[in-house]
Amino acid sequence: QSIRWYSINFLEELLMRIVVYPGTFDPIHRGHIDIAERASKLFDQIIFAVAINSEKNPLFNSDERIELILGATKHIPNVKAYSTDGLIADFARDHKAVALIRGLRHVSDFEFEFQMATMNHHLNENVSTLLMVTSEHYIHLNSSVVKDVAKLNGDISKFVSSNVMLKLKEKFDRS
Ligand code: ADP
Repeated sequence: QSIRWYSINFLEELLMRIVVYPGTFDPIHRGHIDIAERASKLFDQIIFAVAINSEKNPLFNSDERIELILGATKHIPNVKAYSTDGLIADFARDHKAVALIRGLRHVSDFEFEFQMATMNHHLNENVSTLLMVTSEHYIHLNSSVVKDVAKLNGDISKFVSSNVMLKLKEKFDRS
């Protein structure tokens, strides 16, 4: 009988509980970071799936959004970020994720999220969606508001991390 040897790294990776956090993240803000911080206590690794989403005409391209995510989540262990223009259910399968996480701000978010969760489970039955209720300070925060305030030179330090603040300033100073 042959004995198989596996490296510790390989076994660790095999046992990892991976969650995918999909979204546009144009740019990442403190509401997103809060969800990621809390998800990191439930999972071993978080992978941000940055939707390329050309219809939304994002301010930052996907490489910039990834860089901003990685800069803003340095304090969270085991975060990765990749872009995708495919199905999130396939992205989750490719990255061996057991779950998707989404933030829930208002009751009105629920219907859409419920529909997405059902569809994603249908497309990949190994993945469950967790809807995490937003902390009350971030209920009204979204990326569009951040961009609007930044464009008019308003103070966004409460809403985004310093790397994002800097990049927004650069973008709007240039335009
Ligand atoms: P999408 O384009 O998919 O709405 P976003 O980048 O706006 O992507 O958001 C990605 C995820 O983060 C979604 O699950 C969204 O509900 C969640 N989210 C957005 N804003 C907040 C916030 N203020 N607090 C918590 N979660 C949020």
